[in-house]
Amino acid sequence: MALLNAGVRVPWTWAGILAVAPYVLGALAAVAGVWFKRPRIALMAAVVMVAHAVVQGFVAGVNVHDRGPEITVIYAYVAVVFPLNAIAIAWKPDRGLCSPAMLGRVLFFALQAVVLVVAWDAGDGARQVIDDLTHMRVFAKDFDYWSLLPQPALLLFAAAGVVLLARAVHTGGALDGGLFGATAASALALHGAADAPVSALMFTAATVLLLVAVAQESYRLAFIDELTGLAGRRALMHDLESLGGVYTVAMLDVDHFKKFNDTYGHDVGDQVLKMVAAQMMRVTGGGRPFRYGGEEFTVLFPRKTAKEAVPHLDTLRQSIAEASFTLRGEDRPKQKPESKSGAKRKTAKAQPSNVVSVTISIGAAEHEDDLKPDAVLKAADQALYRAKDGGRNRVSL
Ligand code: GH3
Ligand code: MG
Ligand code: MG
Repeated sequence: MALLNAGVRVPWTWAGILAVAPYVLGALAAVAGVWFKRPRIALMAAVVMVAHAVVQGFVAGVNVHDRGPEITVIYAYVAVVFPLNAIAIAWKPDRGLCSPAMLGRVLFFALQAVVLVVAWDAGDGARQVIDDLTHMRVFAKDFDYWSLLPQPALLLFAAAGVVLLARAVHTGGALDGGLFGATAASALALHGAADAPVSALMFTAATVLLLVAVAQESYRLAFIDELTGLAGRRALMHDLESLGGVYTVAMLDVDHFKKFNDTYGHDVGDQVLKMVAAQMMRVTGGGRPFRYGGEEFTVLFPRKTAKEAVPHLDTLRQSIAEASFTLRGEDRPKQKPESKSGAKRKTAKAQPSNVVSVTISIGAAEHEDDLKPDAVLKAADQALYRAKDGGRNRVSL
């Protein structure tokens, strides 16, 4: 209380709120990143907050037309190293908070700060070196008027954008998408640094993107099955609870899967589960596929009776039975590095490929009146047993 009375004022203007928003949301993103063991998000949030602080402290309110050393040295330095940090952070997947990979990045980050502080304190000579380095001309002089960002920063941001976007598309992960988005928003924030509220808004957007990325990733961990990419049991129960009226639940189980695992190994078994899941994603009739657990799957047909769902289930059953599964030869990885002799390759090709097929059994039950979701699932499970007893590779009600 004494502190409040001592004259600490909260700046309740939009510009004031915008100025603190990147710190508040950035801190939240950093905490979330540490809490959910996503140190890359935490590091990125730290970088965004530092960049925002630099813009607030050294660019906002300064006349950018007569560019003083705050802009030609401090701002330019931060604008150039920001994309380098973004690449360093996004480059490799998350490791533990205290892993060498993460500590290395923190050290890289700290080193840059030390370099800037030392150079700034060393006086005009050292400042001039930073000024010269950060303002090397890559493009025509006209670019200098287009953006406050020095040309090397523009180029590095473009490179970081390409690298991070490629990574995000390649992994399809929310975290990589968030890192790309935060970098893009920060580039805009630094580009518009002369306009303090616009810059603050863009840095705020960067921190929000990081928070959304953590939230999305947590959702994925909770609801999406890692191996198959299908929604998991938690998502199924969630959907079942929000459904009423008519719907049909189908339970699917791979036939003789234990034997399959014993014969070909667990890894090949996993490949089969992926293939089954891929077929399930193409199920017709508005069915929603789930991995119930292990080698058991579920398809949920909202607003469909069991009778209406059966043709779609039978098509799915058939498509799985007909999808031949080519076993990857055990020697395939070994062969790859030494695949120099054409003759050798030919003989390998000439060998009959090891094709196997799998079948599934399906049991379906529909929701009536006051039946609880658990009871519908149980009924579908009993129908599944009947399908197994009836000889497998069939659909039972
Ligand atoms: P049935 O036709 O009666 O279903 O015979 P089954 O051998 O498939 O019997 P069951 O359904 O009890 O077999 C379950 C087996 O599935 C046991 C386990 O080895 C295998 N399994 C469960 N989850 C996984 C998984 O994630 N990966 C792999 N590779 N195998 C799994
Ligand atoms: Mg089973
Ligand atoms: Mg089975």
